[in-house]
Amino acid sequence: MSVSDEFDEWAAAGKDRGMEDRHWHTAKHVLARMPVEEGDTVLDLGCGSGYAGRALKQTKGAGRAYGIDASPAMAENARSYTDDPDVGFLVGDFEHLPFADDSVDHCFSMEAFYYAGDPHAVLAEVARVLRPGGTFHCAVNYYEENVHSHHWDELVEVPMTRWSTAEYRAAFADAGLAVAVQDNVPDREIAIPPADAFPTEEWDTREAMVERYREYGTLVTVGVNR
Ligand code: SAH
Repeated sequence: MSVSDEFDEWAAAGKDRGMEDRHWHTAKHVLARMPVEEGDTVLDLGCGSGYAGRALKQTKGAGRAYGIDASPAMAENARSYTDDPDVGFLVGDFEHLPFADDSVDHCFSMEAFYYAGDPHAVLAEVARVLRPGGTFHCAVNYYEENVHSHHWDELVEVPMTRWSTAEYRAAFADAGLAVAVQDNVPDREIAIPPADAFPTEEWDTREAMVERYREYGTLVTVGVNR
């Protein structure tokens, strides 16, 4: 199945808001760290419900916030959640960004990068559109060290790329994005039931669930464009 067909179905089922609610636990910390200044142009790759652009506009005074998504239904939903004329949504593949060279101050992406057909091409595009000194804050929960995510590719019908933390760093560097920070942002908000509630439908042990959320959380790789 194509990415757009898969996520059109998710959008029609209202899953965009569900993802926003869950991802917000860690995404908000990543967004808060972004060195966005008043008037900056920001871009969210694989925007889903579009919460990141809305937040960067509201909390940091971004001048223009764009979200790009391969799924027309996702972009349409995102558009319906705001009437801010400075927050815009585009349908397209983030391997081919419809932006001029050096025209974006900062990029963000949450739980979307690994769906890219060619992740190296995405990084090259990000490096092209970012101004020198602009950053790419790339957040993923699906990556090699997070063993609890390894089965996720069986849950969706689109191919996924599972890089290790070292592979993220190397690919960023190859694309001309100097890795300033790479770390894990824990999810401290998801409720973890007491030990006697395990096994649950999803988790064999409480330890595994604690490791998944409180320890691994979200892997963030921050690249600074040279
Ligand atoms: N960032 C949102 C959505 C995550 S779901 C959140 O945190 O909730 C992943 C999104 O990435 C989907 O909406 C999907 O359509 C989009 N996506 C996946 N591959 C893409 C690609 N190659 N180009 C553009 N969007 C893509």
